Amino acid sequence: MLEVHDLTVRFGGITALGGVGFEVRGGEMVGLIGPNGAGKTTLFNCLTRRYDADGGSVRYEGRDLLAVPPHAIAALGIARTFQNLGLFPRMSVRDNVMVGAHHHGRAGFVAASLRLPSVRGEERRLRAEADELLERLELSDVAGHPAAGLPFGTLKRVELARALAARPRLLLLDEPVNGLSHGEIDEFAGWLQSIREDFDVTVIVVEHHMGFVMGTCDRVICLDFGKKIAEGSPEEVQRDPAVIEAYLGTA
Ligand code: ATP
Repeated sequence: MLEVHDLTVRFGGITALGGVGFEVRGGEMVGLIGPNGAGKTTLFNCLTRRYDADGGSVRYEGRDLLAVPPHAIAALGIARTFQNLGLFPRMSVRDNVMVGAHHHGRAGFVAASLRLPSVRGEERRLRAEADELLERLELSDVAGHPAAGLPFGTLKRVELARALAARPRLLLLDEPVNGLSHGEIDEFAGWLQSIREDFDVTVIVVEHHMGFVMGTCDRVICLDFGKKIAEGSPEEVQRDPAVIEAYLGTA
């Protein structure tokens, strides 16, 4: 599904990604780990075309992803969540999720919110789909509540719902369980596993929480200083001396 070759991104004198390469097969859940500043978010920003690459190539479903304009990424079936939640605080949880469906390229949420007669039917459909996702993630109780003021763990789930509303084939999750309690992390892992199967979605997840990564991912890639230093099963990567040294500071 995704083939990344020799991907390089520089910011002035900093090489955020220095020739990174890997592949992701359809249906996989791949964990992307590495210490702070390793280049994980930069990689997501490249895959979603927020950042231009200085070198290398990315093929997504056979297409040259680096030639795709940023606004066309969602329509290609790529959705992401953000480390620092990207929700609209004053909008209701349901409307935040419907924004995700709009990004899918279907009848516009903005047009729908204007209540134009031609889009009322579409609005109803998007709303029903949003409500289905909210129910699935146990968010129905807060559907009409503004995002602002809700507990952090709830907002993380709203972000997941919003990304899923775009019906992605490739879902990029940036630190989805950061800041959650142990119980919330287990719950999130369970939802993710079932969603993955039911939505037939391929997932790349950046996460520092090793228990979550090791328990949920099929394969793990470790970056350090913009380079891939390890790749393999969670068990292999966890035992890799280079990873232990880079990530934990001791070999
Ligand atoms: P963290 O786990 O802390 O989120 P990360 O692995 O996601 O770290 P990146 O955020 O990708 O790391 O950063 C990689 C390097 O690129 C860092 O040195 C960072 O300061 C730099 N960097 C990232 N984005 C920019 C930018 N827009 N301008 C300048 N430097 C940047």
